[in-house]
Amino acid sequence: QSYYAMLAENQKLHNELQELKGNIRVYCRIRPFLPGQREKQSSIEYVGENGELIIVNPAKQGKESRRSFKFNKVYSQAATQAEVFSDTQPLIQSVLDGYNVCIFAYGQTGSGKTYTMTGPDKASEDEWGVNYRALNHLFQTSQNREHAFSYEISVQMVEIYNEQVRDLLSSDTSQKRYPSLCSQPNGLAVPDATMYPVKATSDVLHLMDVGLKNRAKGSTALNERSSRSHSILSIHARGVDQKTRSSMQSSLHLVDLAGSERVDRSEVTGDRLKEAQHINKSLSALGDVISALAQKSPHIPYRNSKLTQVLQGSLGGNAKTLMFVQLNPEVNSYSETLSTLKFAERASGVELGAAKSSK
Ligand code: ADP
Repeated sequence: QSYYAMLAENQKLHNELQELKGNIRVYCRIRPFLPGQREKQSSIEYVGENGELIIVNPAKQGKESRRSFKFNKVYSQAATQAEVFSDTQPLIQSVLDGYNVCIFAYGQTGSGKTYTMTGPDKASEDEWGVNYRALNHLFQTSQNREHAFSYEISVQMVEIYNEQVRDLLSSDTSQKRYPSLCSQPNGLAVPDATMYPVKATSDVLHLMDVGLKNRAKGSTALNERSSRSHSILSIHARGVDQKTRSSMQSSLHLVDLAGSERVDRSEVTGDRLKEAQHINKSLSALGDVISALAQKSPHIPYRNSKLTQVLQGSLGGNAKTLMFVQLNPEVNSYSETLSTLKFAERASGVELGAAKSSK
């Protein structure tokens, strides 16, 4: 019986993966209220089991105040890191079958992007985010398949700040800090960034530690800086079939995006304005690429930002994309919540018809 159960499970996984191919999935996750926040005042009214979400505008009354959305999944505030990962795992595992995969976390600062991708500071294993779990899962699966395939797994970690790429795994931060991009679409996007081989779980922990520490360096206020840069953990897998000697190569990019909140241009100047403009430009470029892909447009505008250039080989074609859309449930975040959801709707390609009819 367990054999048939396994076959059924494999078939289910296979169907799910076929369905994912070339599509953009959107999983929405609502951050819990933090201690001291007033739970009664939430902009989230309803979370359905099939990906429905209803938000309420505190400034309006009645029907007018509600807007509904539908995504592939919506996680309530009670969702655990393990639950979120278990839905993501088939996608991650497909990297070992030769698929390129990109996973993003999008949302305003404080909405839980880093929590979903990395976990809280000094996380216990239960609290590990997608990055740790993905690395560990890929590494362990590659070991389980050792009799049939030999895999090499290696990792790069970079940050994009003000349209400059910075190597986060470089041990010598004074040199090679700003590697350039590769112009060949099929090569490694950032060939000069440090490549860290993963041979044991301890390597996973070590490299995450180095990357996170380097990310914090160069700024006095960690949260300030990290919320204004995109960080990309890229896992590259190379596999050789032991029997046929055929080989495959693929990448998984795990991206913690800069905070999507709009900065009031009348209030900021200098460096802060420059940062805001760079973030705005790169997030719009990402939105444009994803929606061009969702519409199957013949021209995909990858060249418009460093972020989309780095990810070019893993966005579109046979690659699979998942976006975690993170929401802060507090009422005073309503307008950011709405604009985050609109971005997600546009990215998933479902908005087009709906928007036309509501105009
Ligand atoms: P962002 O990366 O979007 O700026 P963070 O991930 O730093 O946001 O989250 C903001 C705060 O909320 C942090 O203190 C984080 O630990 C907490 N937090 C976010 N999501 C969750 C969650 N699902 N469960 C518990 N705490 C969370």
